[in-house]
Amino acid sequence: MTEHLQAIIDSVRDHDSGELADYIDVLKHADPDKLALAMCTTDGHLYAVGDADYEFSIQSISKPFVYALALDMYGPEEVHAHVGVEPSGEAFNKLSLDDDGRPANPLINAGAITVNQLIGGPDIPVEQRSEKLRDYFSRLAGRELTVDERVLDSELDAADRNKAFAHMLREAGTISDDAHDAVASYIAQCAVLVTVKDLAVMAATLAAGGKQPVTGERVVSAEAARLAQAVMVSSGMYDASGQWMVNVGIPAKSGVAGGLIGTLPGQLGIASLSPRLNKQGNSVRGVKIFRELSSSMGLNMLSSNFFVAPGIRRIERRDDADIVELQGMINFTNAEKILRGLTKNRVYTKTSALYRRDSPNLSSGNTRT
Ligand code: GLN
Repeated sequence: MTEHLQAIIDSVRDHDSGELADYIDVLKHADPDKLALAMCTTDGHLYAVGDADYEFSIQSISKPFVYALALDMYGPEEVHAHVGVEPSGEAFNKLSLDDDGRPANPLINAGAITVNQLIGGPDIPVEQRSEKLRDYFSRLAGRELTVDERVLDSELDAADRNKAFAHMLREAGTISDDAHDAVASYIAQCAVLVTVKDLAVMAATLAAGGKQPVTGERVVSAEAARLAQAVMVSSGMYDASGQWMVNVGIPAKSGVAGGLIGTLPGQLGIASLSPRLNKQGNSVRGVKIFRELSSSMGLNMLSSNFFVAPGIRRIERRDDADIVELQGMINFTNAEKILRGLTKNRVYTKTSALYRRDSPNLSSGNTRT
């Protein structure tokens, strides 16, 4: 697993197209060459390669998680009275309000400012709401996360567009908080520092229906996790979401610091980091990494090969051989579980080429299946 992930990041390392986000001063001066990839199974097994302990700001990857929290606090009906669930087809920093004055979805900035305001209601001080969210992200990651004050201050200095959104949202009656406070607490949510390992575990929590796979804590409800992933399918990559589903087929969310997460419901959370962005604000090498992951590991959710079989049914020793009984078609998640099971049971295997690009089949080495 680790070798395969390493090979994927090595294959994109030399691509240096794209630009750092330049409207936030701290991000403009980030190291553009950082590169990392992590994957967490829904039973809490984590794999990571590259700059996997490097911390960067979560930015827009915070948005589906805060949406899930709001859904649990108020229920879908109340939340959807404030924000829609339709793709805007426009950039993340366009206002995109529907006829009822609601932002198109919770993943564009206007929608995320609106959802942020729901947490704790309009009367809660900015610091209290920010602390509530920092604590919530920490429970999702399974460790204490911090807010990068430098990112926060530098984004606040350049927040005219987001402040303009907040004023328009107030005018439309969608939010009632002071416009500047609204933006301050939204920007604090974006400035929380994470690593790709944190993000992979957070994504795996959504994929596992809201239960954090490492700590075992139920952080959000299964329904909220499902809705968050639904909007990630339609709007997670902004105006590149359609192309993303055609090429990759994984619910996803990007951030302007170069992070990118993907969730495979019931199976995996994935996260990459590479700071150079394309014109839609998505990480250039991150998109390449996910394309390669999806095709080489059979992760496309819409592929007819994509379904889950139970993995190892039985292992027994007969006539000097280990007989391993498997069931069904073996996709990536099952192959990972099976290999882990075989290692644990010390069954001798020579399973080098486990799956092929077009047909994820388990090939047998010395293990008869
Ligand atoms: N904090 C950023 C902003 O509001 C988040 C945008 C993003 O990551 N796409 O502009």
